[in-house]
Amino acid sequence: MHEELDTDYLVIGAGAAGMAFTDALLTHSDATITIVDRRHAPGGHWVDAYPYVRLHQPSTFYGVSSVLLGQDAVDVAGTNAGFYELAGADEIRAYYERVMHRHFLPTGRVRYFPSSDYAGEHRFVSTLTGASWHVRVARKLIDTTYLEGTIPATSAPPFEVADGVRCIPAGAIARLDERADRYVIIGGGKTALDACVWLLERGVPASMIQWIRPRDAWWLNRKFQQPHELVLDLYGGVAIQIEAMAEATSVEDLFARLESEGFFLRIDPEVVPEMFRGAVVSEAELRLLRRIDDVVRLGHVQRIERDAIVLQRGRVPTSAGTVHVHCAASGLARPPLRPIFEPGRVTIQPFFWGFACYQFAMLGVMEATIESDREKNRLCPPIAYWDVNEDYLTAFLAMLTGERARAQHPALASWTKTTRLNPVSGLSSYRDDPRAIEGRERIKRFAGAAVVNLQKLLSRLLVLLVAVVALGCEDGIDNDGSCDTNPLATGLVAQQTGVSADVADCSILTPTSTFTSASRALRGTATRWSSSFQAAPRTSTP
Ligand SMILES: Cc1cc2nc3c(=O)[nH]c(=O)nc-3n(C[C@H](O)[C@H](O)[C@H](O)COP(=O)(O)OP(=O)(O)OC[C@H]3O[C@@H](n4cnc5c(N)ncnc54)[C@H](O)[C@@H]3O)c2cc1C
Repeated sequence: MHEELDTDYLVIGAGAAGMAFTDALLTHSDATITIVDRRHAPGGHWVDAYPYVRLHQPSTFYGVSSVLLGQDAVDVAGTNAGFYELAGADEIRAYYERVMHRHFLPTGRVRYFPSSDYAGEHRFVSTLTGASWHVRVARKLIDTTYLEGTIPATSAPPFEVADGVRCIPAGAIARLDERADRYVIIGGGKTALDACVWLLERGVPASMIQWIRPRDAWWLNRKFQQPHELVLDLYGGVAIQIEAMAEATSVEDLFARLESEGFFLRIDPEVVPEMFRGAVVSEAELRLLRRIDDVVRLGHVQRIERDAIVLQRGRVPTSAGTVHVHCAASGLARPPLRPIFEPGRVTIQPFFWGFACYQFAMLGVMEATIESDREKNRLCPPIAYWDVNEDYLTAFLAMLTGERARAQHPALASWTKTTRLNPVSGLSSYRDDPRAIEGRERIKRFAGAAVVNLQKLLSRLLVLLVAVVALGCEDGIDNDGSCDTNPLATGLVAQQTGVSADVADCSILTPTSTFTSASRALRGTATRWSSSFQAAPRTSTP
């Protein structure tokens, strides 16, 4: 069977991005929308998520703007006690079902095709029947799959596993047939953290857990991510960050300042984290995790043999009674950046530091309320999802610089003030509270200096790395780490970062020692940047 369809927008993916974008189009335009997803239900990766996963920030900041997720209750027990509720996987799935079936479809403007694979060129195919459709798209294709990540439930472990070894994805520890003698948690991210917390909360002694952490991470303290009656803590956190950004002398110094304020947390105070994925934890979770002493830091697992786990920098013993828990999926993708708005197409990508659904919805509001793609792109130049410490600076800088421009658009500005997805939208109720006044003053005082200093800190790191990685100008680096000014590098960095050419100038490069100690992860950042630089039109070169 083959059919033709007409629609204004064709949305690929019914995950958080597709749903939030669609909701914004429904609210702010009269467009018709066709949503296609290869999964059988709306919710994206949540459909296959491990059973004990919860949002890491309050439910109120997640979902589509027009339908509240959760009850806005404050938890009284567990590691989230005292903070606003965090929806779990079942609740999130039920929420997206409800949004689709009670809100979207009844409008008569949305058609939804689950279990359908998008095959390109506005065609999709049912995975159940083989029936195919061609869609005549009057306005745009909305691609929410460009950054699609992998999750342990649907992707094989990125290491070999010998026959007879018990190795299971994160979710399967909730359904073990046979008790384990020992659990080895493999991965340094939020999934691994959740698996450890889940085991510990269920009484598994810490001595039965080994945690393989290729990289340690910085975690955001959930205390500073709260809405409603606790929103002044969140606002105080914004002020703390901006003041630290104005005064920090290096990336390391910035994280140290924010850790001393309790804003950033790390599990092991003896290890300097190299990873920053923006995940949020509570101090109670951290206290639990610190009980695990057996932490292996020998790089990534390469294979698991029957009696040994082989890692990049060594091996550790294992046994037949051990359950190895795969929490090592790579997470969100980091392909080269591309403009979000193009003729006939929107490619969903983040564009500032902030919660995901707020950004997805804002893109929908922009699409519905601003005519010119050029103007929309000016308001939201994309950034890569954060992975290393430096990405935090890039993302926060994008927020500081973009906000002023977006505030010039009345429809966008008024939506921003009222949507619950905006973490600070509830602040207006506390306008005259002394803590709000103090936060406002601090932000006013330090915001300008924070922008300049972030640009400076980033350009110090990136100019050198970009010059080396993208342009191969090693010859230009002197022994003391300074380098001959390279106008091509300077111009490209200035163009890509919005940093003024004099700030991007090589004359402020850091000493070689900093460069040589720059982490593998930082090189990853440079490589990402360099790929977008190579794509940049050379005409901008001074
Ligand atoms: C375990 C976990 C916990 C997280 N917790 C939070 C959190 O608390 N807060 C937060 O803000 N973010 C969180 N995130 C980040 C999360 O990625 C985003 O919140 C959001 O869910 C991403 O939504 P998405 O729509 O971009 O992607 P996805 O959820 O991956 O949805 C993309 C959809 O596109 C579909 N698709 C892909 N290709 C095709 C094709 N060719 N044809 C048809 N369909 C296709 C897929 O089936 C999928 O359903 C978490 C991520 C993970 C993995």
